[in-house]
Amino acid sequence: MEACILLVEDEEKLARFVELELLHEGYEVDKAMDGRTALNMALEKDYSLILLDIMLPELSGMEVLRRLLKVKDTPVILLTARDAVMDKVSGLDAGAVDYITKPFAIEELLARIRVALKRYDSGALKRAKEPAAAMDAAGVPAEEGVLRWKELELSVPKHSVTYAGHSIDLTNREFMMLQILLENMDIVLSRDTLLEKVCGYEYLGETNVIDVYVRYIRSKIDEVFDVHMIQTVRGVGYVIKSN
Ligand code: CA
Repeated sequence: MEACILLVEDEEKLARFVELELLHEGYEVDKAMDGRTALNMALEKDYSLILLDIMLPELSGMEVLRRLLKVKDTPVILLTARDAVMDKVSGLDAGAVDYITKPFAIEELLARIRVALKRYDSGALKRAKEPAAAMDAAGVPAEEGVLRWKELELSVPKHSVTYAGHSIDLTNREFMMLQILLENMDIVLSRDTLLEKVCGYEYLGETNVIDVYVRYIRSKIDEVFDVHMIQTVRGVGYVIKSN
C-alpha cells in the first residue's frame, strides 16, 4: 500500500518542490496551505505521515499538532525555522515524531520520512503518549522502577518525581531523560546517546535539544532544592553522580 503524505506548507514554491520530490519517490501527496484546512484534512483522512510547517496562516502548526493528536496518532514531522529551538522542544513535547530545520536538503527530509514511516507503520515503537509507552521505550520493567538520588525519588510505575516529598512536575521527555540519567548513575552519557534514548531514534545532529531539557530539569530541581544533580562533563555529556 502506498504511503499517503499530507504536506502542509504555505510557501508555494517550497510546497511545490517538496511535492514533486515526494511524488517522484512514489508517495501519494495531498497539500494544504493553511492550518485550518490542514487540520480538517488530517482529521478526515488517515494519512501515513504529515509534514507540518509551524508558521502557517489561520491556525499555527503547533495548534494543528495539538488538536490533531488529541484525536489521532498520525506521525507528524515539523518543518521549523532555523534556530527555533523552543519550537522544536515544544513540538516534540506536543507529540511530533521529528522535525527538520529549514532550509533543508531534500535527501535529509526523505531520509527522515522513511525512518518515520518504517518506525510508525510497523508499530515497532508505541507513541510515548502515556507513561506506559515511555517506560517500554526506555526498557524498564514496570514492577521495579523506583530510582533514587539523595532525597529525589523517581517512580516509573507512578510516573512521578518527588524531592524530599515535594512533587515535581516534569514533561514526558524531561521525565525520560531524568530516568535514563538515574538508571545510568555515575556513567557519563553523551548528548547523542541521550537524544537517541529520549527522542526514540536517530535525530541527525540537533543535540542542543538535550541541553534545553537539562536546563528545564535543573530549573525545576537543582535550582529549587539547591542541589547539583545533573553534572555537565565538558565535551562529553551529562552524568548524575551517586556521591
Ligand atoms: Ca510558513
